[in-house]
Amino acid sequence: MEITVVGTGYVGLVTGVCFAEIGYSVTCFDIDESKIAALSEGRCPIYEPGLEEMLKRNLKEGRIRFTFDAKLAYKNKDYLFIAVGTPENEDGSANLEYLEAAVDQIGLNLNRDAVIVIKSTVPVGTNEGVYKKLQENIPDKIQVKVVSNPEFLREGSGILDTFHADRIVVGSDDHEAGRAVADLYKPFERPILQTDIRSAELIKYASNAFLATKISFINEVANLCEHTGANIEDVAKGMGMDERIGSQFLKAGIGYGGSCFPKDTKALEKLTDYYNYDFKILRSVIEVNSRQKQQLFYKACELLGNLQGKRVAVLGLAFKPHTDDIREAPAVELIVRLLEAQADISVYDPVAYGNVADLFGSRLYYAETVDGAIKGADVVFIMTEWPQIAQYDLERFPLFMREPVIFDGRNCYDLAEAKSAGLTYVSVGRKAVNVNRNLENSGLQS
Ligand code: NAD
Repeated sequence: MEITVVGTGYVGLVTGVCFAEIGYSVTCFDIDESKIAALSEGRCPIYEPGLEEMLKRNLKEGRIRFTFDAKLAYKNKDYLFIAVGTPENEDGSANLEYLEAAVDQIGLNLNRDAVIVIKSTVPVGTNEGVYKKLQENIPDKIQVKVVSNPEFLREGSGILDTFHADRIVVGSDDHEAGRAVADLYKPFERPILQTDIRSAELIKYASNAFLATKISFINEVANLCEHTGANIEDVAKGMGMDERIGSQFLKAGIGYGGSCFPKDTKALEKLTDYYNYDFKILRSVIEVNSRQKQQLFYKACELLGNLQGKRVAVLGLAFKPHTDDIREAPAVELIVRLLEAQADISVYDPVAYGNVADLFGSRLYYAETVDGAIKGADVVFIMTEWPQIAQYDLERFPLFMREPVIFDGRNCYDLAEAKSAGLTYVSVGRKAVNVNRNLENSGLQS
């Protein structure tokens, strides 16, 4: 049995390598020649814990190969897993051009019966469109079937999530094809849910929208805490102890980012527009998140006034720890604002510099350590709770900063410890600490 995985991004590469790890023969195809060159040599172009070692092992044992040649990718294959990007169009809808290009190439190259499995996140109805297009473009003697198999892995724990998935969703209107794909996943020994094709497509969007809702909800509660004097960490803990609510995704902060939640919530909103259905909660979730992402910057302006010429350190750039992905990262939005405000910016992130440098180049100072980033800074923003940042010794801030002022978008530190370290410390949904100390223009209450 021969499997091809189309697209070697976070989803495609993890999928391909994990399939090889359980013993399948896998070909990975990408239109990015440099990625294919690196992967063929066992070098991983993305940061994903454990992936490079697993890649190297499977390359060495001959279970996985990488190609830039569409003919090699699509000829003599039984299963084609499509994991190309479906980014956001300007109007918020899902951009399906990469998927369509892949389907066109399959149409040109397929030479035997195959099952096409769509892993990319796509709007309801897309899989049916893929089937129709292939029917039109492939010779009559070749039979294709299309199966929806949305992906739920999280960047930063992609391998773990693949081997320990809560569920594997397989959607198909052709029972035999659905069964065959479900059987492929049997060695993972995880729960498999077989549904019709449209339900599988919607499960993905509804799941992401629900998680985004939890985040926006707890951020709204955090904002209410700031008005009422309650502490969001205690409130979230008390809520999460209720098993009906659960503690996951109840961490208040500066809003969700990344390559999935922002675009998937907007694509779902577009889908509801198409069906003329007013999904009120979803619209609020998106609005609350976009406001939340700006909160820390406005708090800093309120406390410090003009940021022009101020030395600002931004700690953490990836949209969350353990990834180098900066797509829709709150830190990127903050840096854009800080540059507009003409602040002098140093940054620290353990792995995301390649992507950040592509965006901002020499306009930032890229420090190798937290110490290096905060040295001489007037203000620090904490944007990603990497362990190197969340576990940073608070006593070190005063060693490197003249008047340590910290805006913490991830509630990394204990309020009492921040107070005793002499920090001016402003976090999310908790009382600000030491705000009046030597600071003019302070509108915040200690
Ligand atoms: P990505 O942008 O990291 O990778 C996509 C890859 O596809 C790129 O390497 C690109 O060069 C390649 N590609 C584009 N067109 C191609 C073509 N015609 N043929 C071959 N390769 C092509 O994307 P990603 O983050 O892996 O996401 C892929 C899909 O999975 C998206 O629909 C996304 O919404 C979904 N998803 C992503 C995650 C995640 O955490 N990143 C999780 C679940 C689902």
